[in-house]
Amino acid sequence: MKKCRFCDSSAIVRLPYANLSLCGEHFKGYYIGRIRRVLDKHKIHGEVLVATSGGKDSMALLHALSEISKVDDRANFTAFHINLGIFDYSRKSEEIVREFSKKLGVVLIVYDLKKEIGYTIPELIRVSKRPPCAVCGIVKRWVLNKVAYECGFDYLATGHNIDDISTILLKALLSQDMYTILRMQSEFSPPRNDIKLVGKIRPQFYLSEMENRLYAELNKIPVIGEDCPLSKGATLHKYRSLWDHILKTNPVSQINFIRSILKLREQMAAFKQPTHLCKKCEFPTESETELCAFCRLIDSAGKRNTETLGLVS
Ligand code: SF4
Ligand code: ZN
Ligand code: ZN
Repeated sequence: MKKCRFCDSSAIVRLPYANLSLCGEHFKGYYIGRIRRVLDKHKIHGEVLVATSGGKDSMALLHALSEISKVDDRANFTAFHINLGIFDYSRKSEEIVREFSKKLGVVLIVYDLKKEIGYTIPELIRVSKRPPCAVCGIVKRWVLNKVAYECGFDYLATGHNIDDISTILLKALLSQDMYTILRMQSEFSPPRNDIKLVGKIRPQFYLSEMENRLYAELNKIPVIGEDCPLSKGATLHKYRSLWDHILKTNPVSQINFIRSILKLREQMAAFKQPTHLCKKCEFPTESETELCAFCRLIDSAGKRNTETLGLVS
């Protein structure tokens, strides 16, 4: 292994897209610098709610933001965890997030899905015809925006990484799924108070899963060490491995791929954003119907329950 670019120590990581080899200490500094630059670029200030699932991406993000807040008080970060009711996996995830937030001295809000909306994710999956992660995504997006908006946060920070984003976009392109391409959120979206849409920031948008994992390992950050039991068979995993091959040929292909799609999208007059409020929950929706996807999901769950009980003839 080569020497670190900035000191005499041996490098522990090579970042081909930046042509950079770094030791552990300089990698930690580089990683925090990347997160800080995103906050600077979009002038993030005020109260920020940090979605923290217990996975490596969001736990690394919470740690980095808490490090930044030690030397910079422009923003105040609060952790937010949704207990999705996915059996033992959700119980363990909540436990890890609780312990880690306490250790960092960060305030944590926990939202128990079963208590708050009456259903767990496995219960909603059972009544929906959509794939598990699509159902989960609808619920998480709705809950995160609602809680951040109603609790008066200025921004919501989430832990998406470049591997997730580029894989979702690649799958969408190869499947003619224009809806996903048009509505995929970028690194930053400003608040829209007129339609109760909180501002969103994704500080790891251009950081890879490997970089998030390495930062978590170097800082001994606890993470949920198992995959969600509902993720098995998700086709996204298969598309993700395609990137390993492409990146060997061109290390900046992933970054360029996302930037190309964002540029294309900017040029498209049809770029769709939420335009109206759902008739039922009164939160923003892109849906062409009166109800948002979340309310339609909850309605179908309620209907299915009454049908099961024999209350509907
Ligand atoms: Fe939800 Fe899918 Fe993630 Fe499991 S893997 S928590 S179902 S989005
Ligand atoms: Zn070094
Ligand atoms: Zn709704």
